[in-house]
Amino acid sequence: MTPTDPAPIPGWLREILRCPACGSTLRDEAGPEHPELVCTATDCARAYRVEDGIPVLLVDEARRPA
Ligand SMILES: [Zn+2]
Repeated sequence: MTPTDPAPIPGWLREILRCPACGSTLRDEAGPEHPELVCTATDCARAYRVEDGIPVLLVDEARRPA
């Protein structure tokens, strides 16, 4: 693990994470302020921030793309 890792989440956990809004898989992004997990569904595309290595997978907290 290096400081440049966008989302230092354990692989086993990362594998089972899904978007809580639509159930799609998530990809790692750097994000404007925090690392983020971004939904891979283009019609959803919510971005969930990762705080201190813990993904905040809450629909109400998700960032929607402009
Ligand atoms: Zn989604």
